[in-house]
Amino acid sequence: MDPYADTLRRLREAFSTGRTRPAEFRAAQLKGLRRFLQENKPLLQEALAQDLHKTFSWHTMCDSIKSTKPVNHGSQVTEGETESVFDADVSELIICQNEVDLVLRNLHTWMKDEYVAKSLVLSLDSAFIRKEPLGLVLIIAPWNYPVHLTLMPLVGALAAGNCVVLKPSELSKGTEKVLAEVLPRYLDQSCFAVVLGGPQETGQLLEHKFDHIFFTGSPRVGRIVMAAAAKHLTPVTLELGGKNPCYVDDDCDPQTVANRMAFYRYFNSGQTCVAPDYVLCSPATQERLVPALQSAITRFYGDDPQSSPSLGRIISDKHFQRLRGLLGCGRVAVGGQSDESERYIAPTVLVDVQETEPVMQEEIFGPILPIMNVRSLDEAIDFINRREKPLALYAFSNSKEVVTQMLDRTSSGIFGGNQGFAHLSLPSLPLGGVGNSGMGRYHGKFSFDTFSHHRASLLSSSGLEKLNEFHYPPYTNLRQQLIGWALGSHSCTLL
Ligand code: NAD
Repeated sequence: MDPYADTLRRLREAFSTGRTRPAEFRAAQLKGLRRFLQENKPLLQEALAQDLHKTFSWHTMCDSIKSTKPVNHGSQVTEGETESVFDADVSELIICQNEVDLVLRNLHTWMKDEYVAKSLVLSLDSAFIRKEPLGLVLIIAPWNYPVHLTLMPLVGALAAGNCVVLKPSELSKGTEKVLAEVLPRYLDQSCFAVVLGGPQETGQLLEHKFDHIFFTGSPRVGRIVMAAAAKHLTPVTLELGGKNPCYVDDDCDPQTVANRMAFYRYFNSGQTCVAPDYVLCSPATQERLVPALQSAITRFYGDDPQSSPSLGRIISDKHFQRLRGLLGCGRVAVGGQSDESERYIAPTVLVDVQETEPVMQEEIFGPILPIMNVRSLDEAIDFINRREKPLALYAFSNSKEVVTQMLDRTSSGIFGGNQGFAHLSLPSLPLGGVGNSGMGRYHGKFSFDTFSHHRASLLSSSGLEKLNEFHYPPYTNLRQQLIGWALGSHSCTLL
């Protein structure tokens, strides 16, 4: 018994009627999605609290709003509350709303046929790129930003006029429930479905043919998805992870670097695909950086980070145990505490780490930051280039030359010079990996393009046959010269 066959057949039938194609239909779906986000904000916040322990952010925010006074938790200052609201709301909900609004503002322009340059031979024809929907697309999401990473691709898929099957992560159960039970009410259910399940169910789902698969998750599962897609020659977008290096030059202000690094490393308890994964710096810079990181951590999360409302928890027992194991690598310079009952891992800095240790072999995906020593920029670049191409790469230096060298001599999905993953707030920049960190890109117009087929279209008159005569065989010298002249530099288009 195939549990998906009926749903997929229904969606395919709906697509074949052409109802998802008009701009009005697409806009109506996007407006439905926006209403879902607006009307279910408390429900989504509760779900996020349940999944990633953003409980404090929500309740603290409520307390703060009710009392209209700043709430103070012992040593915590009110910036903590602001940041936790930022964490849950901005990184999950507001970013999706902004994406919907951006697409609604631009949909008509993006959908327009794109007229292109022509050769003299085809000057009377009409040459353009038609953006057409791909058909039935599957979106598979991870748990770490369970609303954001499920709905952001959905915005692009709906905008491009597709029918969609959404498969949220089974690990973020609270969010999965809201997406499965509430979201479909806001969308046309003949064109949209949520499917639940873990590896086994997703494996079964992947046996079916889709017109595109958009997967966000680990490189290991990315390979499984790509192998399944290959059976149907289905194109894939793979938004994967990996180890993101962060080079810190001797010429830097350690406190500034530490503030930025700690913010981006410990945001969402380090469970961010584009977070700095490890630091490369000289022993002298490490000496200055470690106390600065300690100071930044205390400033952000207080003397007892476990009671901080701004720090989340680890998603599952399995990931907690994995991360606790990594605390045994190198030497703990900051943090190192853990509490199994809450799946709490303290913001941690490790030093004296060896390249062969597990913390330098696997993506950390938790609040642990190892520092590896290198003697120079060249050694750091060699180290990075010997490894798989990362999703994100960061370089911190007062010298523009050093940052530029890192950018010019390495490759990664995204790059930050004296910056963390603030890229994500700019829909004008694509998000996507390279090599082992993925293929394809999305956000803003990049999402619309990812979920659209760019159909090369050339419309000619049914008359004016005389104009074609000169390129039909037999090829005399004169004809060949004429063709060469008429095609000019576009001669290869004849092929
Ligand atoms: P995962 O690969 O374990 O799971 C992702 C999705 O795949 C889930 O929906 C899960 O149900 C499904 N899945 C798991 N095993 C499967 C299998 N054997 N067959 C078919 N489907 C399967 O990833 P995760 O633990 O949810 O997320 C963490 C990973 O995702 C990290 O590597 C992180 O870097 C990456 N990530 C990347 C981005 C990005 O934008 N590039 C964003 C977030 C997370």
